[in-house]
Amino acid sequence: MSAARQLVFAFEDAPRWEPSLLETVLAREAGRPLRLVLTDNRSVLLSVKREAGSLLLRLHRMFLHAPECVVTALARNIRRRGRAADGEVRRFMNANLHRVRRTPRAMPPLVTCGRVFDLAAVYGDINARFFGGRVRVPITWGRGVGRARRGGLTFGSYDPVLSLIRIHPVLDRSNVPRFFLESVVHHEMLHHHMGGVPDRAGRTVYHTRAFREAEARFPRHRDALAWEKENLPELLRASQALDRERRAARAAARAAATR
Ligand SMILES: [Zn+2]
Repeated sequence: MSAARQLVFAFEDAPRWEPSLLETVLAREAGRPLRLVLTDNRSVLLSVKREAGSLLLRLHRMFLHAPECVVTALARNIRRRGRAADGEVRRFMNANLHRVRRTPRAMPPLVTCGRVFDLAAVYGDINARFFGGRVRVPITWGRGVGRARRGGLTFGSYDPVLSLIRIHPVLDRSNVPRFFLESVVHHEMLHHHMGGVPDRAGRTVYHTRAFREAEARFPRHRDALAWEKENLPELLRASQALDRERRAARAAARAAATR
């Protein structure tokens, strides 16, 4: 825990490394010619590519704040031709992931009381049954916008920047079984609980094997998958109806405002 804390840099601190010095040190320690390109790419923090006779190393700018031990570990991983993002390097990326995400948006008002389901009650129940009551994360019915995927629906989402769980309002209906809503809430609470892990390419992975195992501990996990498959067409229709309702309400509000 304390080791992880030492790896976290203060955002307002001046960087430790000057880019050309970082490149020189990495090349020297890795024992091979290497070109360093710094990026602001938030999804790929680190990548190594072979170029003619040398390596192209792309690093997120966060590495300008990396302690010496992280830079040495990175060079060693490259020298041994192992995974560049292993060990100290992975821990450093993990510890600072939240800093490279977009600046937080404002927390929206939390709405837990639905037409059919009280989200706060469902959340409290899942928290007690599966997390020993220890999870603390705000939850709200979402507005159901921007969540439609082709051929599917995103029933819940976890926003790691705001640290907020949103549940799609299409699940707030009497023909949705409570266990299905519970399985969605459980899944999103696990995201908050387990966080993301950078993979060897530096991308953040959320649905890891450990995550899938924890998810399957929800007793009606399989029932929930089966119910979703069977009811998806109906849910898509209901979500489109919600969209139309929302658009009509917005249009009415605009008309009232210009009258
Ligand atoms: Zn997920």
